[in-house]
Amino acid sequence: NPSRPATSLPPSRRAAMAISRLRIPPLPLLVVVLLRAFASLPIQAAARGGLGPSPGIAVEKHVAFSRGLLQDMPEITDEMVRGYMSNSELENAIQDFGRRCANVSRIYSIGKSVNGSPLWAIEISDKPGLKEAEPAFKFIGNVHGDEPVGREVLMQLAYWLCDNYLKDPLATLIVENTHLHILPSMNPDGFALRRRGNANNVDLNRDFPDQFFPNNDDIKQRQPETRAIMNWIKQEHFTASASLHGGALVANYPWDGSRDTRKQYYGCPDDKAFRYMASMYSQSHYNMSLSKEFEGGITNGALWYPIYGGMQDWNYIHGGCFELTLEISDVKWPKASELLVIWKQNKMSMLNLVASLVKILAVLYRDHSW
Ligand SMILES: [Zn+2]
Repeated sequence: NPSRPATSLPPSRRAAMAISRLRIPPLPLLVVVLLRAFASLPIQAAARGGLGPSPGIAVEKHVAFSRGLLQDMPEITDEMVRGYMSNSELENAIQDFGRRCANVSRIYSIGKSVNGSPLWAIEISDKPGLKEAEPAFKFIGNVHGDEPVGREVLMQLAYWLCDNYLKDPLATLIVENTHLHILPSMNPDGFALRRRGNANNVDLNRDFPDQFFPNNDDIKQRQPETRAIMNWIKQEHFTASASLHGGALVANYPWDGSRDTRKQYYGCPDDKAFRYMASMYSQSHYNMSLSKEFEGGITNGALWYPIYGGMQDWNYIHGGCFELTLEISDVKWPKASELLVIWKQNKMSMLNLVASLVKILAVLYRDHSW
């Protein structure tokens, strides 16, 4: 069958074929960079996380940072929302997906929002629910209630993987060699209310404990959505992840904040690995790497604008998880008729990011030189 040439190959060969489509530096560099990355994580990241706030820095200062991107839009009209899935439509779509793709997926809830909506997640794998010696990756959409593109694109990703398993080498590689977890909406209440924050009007991407400021450290004070994510990360041990946002077009990587709160390049111990991951996303994207604002379509978070209490840095420090923050659409509410195009523009980026984890492990297993 000429349309299915690669599926009989062993996973490592299929991974090599899939990765070879990338316009990225050659594999040895990837391996060196990521080996260094994974080797350095437990010690250095923990050390970073264990540090308290610097003396002399006003804790309140962190809330002063803002830019247009961070503000609620003046009004989200019915016209703008037309064609987007409502929360109940999204819930139905997730449950339908679970029935349609029962052989390679599992639907579960990681908790509930303030208003009691289940936070539904999809796990895609040939052995869903099983703990295996395979990398786990997560995608989270709709962190901000008024950024709905991610939840739509993530459902497209799930459908594509289900429809192309055993037909496309990259789909097969991901299903057979990873556990991919997709949370289309972290903030269904904010979406229903058509605003950035959750039902308590808290910005969930400022609600995580922060390495530089102690203001968020009390776990009991966390929003239920934030707590659900924190518990999820502790349970699943994700290797890498990405959250999807809207309002810009760039792949953002740690650190998100700087110690002295100044806007500056503030790299984490695995800076090179993160730049590599972010570049893989932007270079595989239709036009992210052509950005005029961000060289190569990537940015260090603190250089762009420092934030505190973000999800990305917490993942890295406390979950050992390499998380990117992806801004995938300049417009927060593009016309719904453009959503399929946006999915296609992000498709290879998303697939390559997940598949890259498999390739690293395949090389490690083959060489097992440690
Ligand atoms: Zn956002």
